[in-house]
Amino acid sequence: MTISAFNPPARVLLGPGPSEVPARVLLAMAKPTIGHMDPAFIGMMEEVKTLLQYAFQTTNAATLPISAPGSAGMEACLANLIEPGDKVAVCRNGVFGGRMGDIVERLGGVPLWVDNAFGEAVDPDKLADALKKTRDVRLVAFVHAETSTGVLSDARAIAEVAHRFGALVLADTVTAIGGVPLYVDKWELDVAYAGTQKCLSCPPGLAPLTLSERALHRIRNRRDKPRTWFLDLSLLLGYWGTGKRVYHHTAPINLLYGLHEALRMLEEEGIENAWQRHRRIHEALVVGLEPLGLGISVAPDIRLPQLNSVSIPAGVDDAQVRARLLEEWGIEIGGGLGELAGRIWRIGLMGQGSNIRNVTLCLDALKVALGTALIEKDLDAKAVPT
Ligand SMILES: *Cc1c(COP(=O)(O)O)cnc(C)c1O
Repeated sequence: MTISAFNPPARVLLGPGPSEVPARVLLAMAKPTIGHMDPAFIGMMEEVKTLLQYAFQTTNAATLPISAPGSAGMEACLANLIEPGDKVAVCRNGVFGGRMGDIVERLGGVPLWVDNAFGEAVDPDKLADALKKTRDVRLVAFVHAETSTGVLSDARAIAEVAHRFGALVLADTVTAIGGVPLYVDKWELDVAYAGTQKCLSCPPGLAPLTLSERALHRIRNRRDKPRTWFLDLSLLLGYWGTGKRVYHHTAPINLLYGLHEALRMLEEEGIENAWQRHRRIHEALVVGLEPLGLGISVAPDIRLPQLNSVSIPAGVDDAQVRARLLEEWGIEIGGGLGELAGRIWRIGLMGQGSNIRNVTLCLDALKVALGTALIEKDLDAKAVPT
């Protein structure tokens, strides 16, 4: 066989995730693999839980990473909280809200869709109206930071409405965590799940989540076991819990070394400082886009600093510009998803990738790529018809 070692090309990851992984995290993952029941490893698992509590701003004891990507965190939370026939209000203002509803249906739950247009935030009043009309909704699910559109929703206001109507609240914080203020305890979010490859600057493959006492109570009082073995949170808590550990599966040991180091970096910087840095760097991007004739498609008060949706000017070829950025500059940015395909670019400035060097580089690349795109169009227009 002549298959050579895989050497990934040099890339600057400015898309919707994965984001840049710092050398410190990569080096941590290159350390020797040890047994997952080794007391040294168990000690590290405890530290990961403590660091995750910090990242979520919670004291919830039930805080742990699922051994699978963000979508598995979504599925784990829904599969453990929902029983067949349960009514679940699903706030949908982008692709990921839609995915939640799809999972609810597959679990035999009954989704009550609360829709806002792609590009708008979840409207808590609309949620309140829906909960007034449909009684005994058991769970409200929403996406705090919608990565498909670049929109931030008001998690505290949504939680307040859900609780007023006696429902638990579940927040998708995959892109939010580490990038924008998130206070699981102060905002009384009953359940939140996240991912590692966005603002936590770790490779993909883990889904941190946290459960309040109210959520644990609901899980303990289910009529039946959840219809999933691997994502059964009661079993996972037996594996991650304090006290005697029960083998469930083999944790991705080296990936957890990486998460441990990435969370240490967050803690060293200070989470409030990290939130502020994302905000400052976002503002630098916005200022730099303006002279290029580019603007953010989302209203200023609900913009995500870590995921910038840029309107594609009329006449500019979306795919062509992104291909040039990748081929000539090694820069990856995202295209639009769903109904926003071809209409926006998604520029991620996430985690350690949220820095001024990346902003400058991205602006330079866009300037060149757009300049040429316009010149080519000009030449086309002037071409002599044959
Ligand atoms: C990325 C993302 C997910 C899915 O995470 P994966 O790790 O790709 O499974 C879910 N929700 C939001 C808001 C995301 O940005």
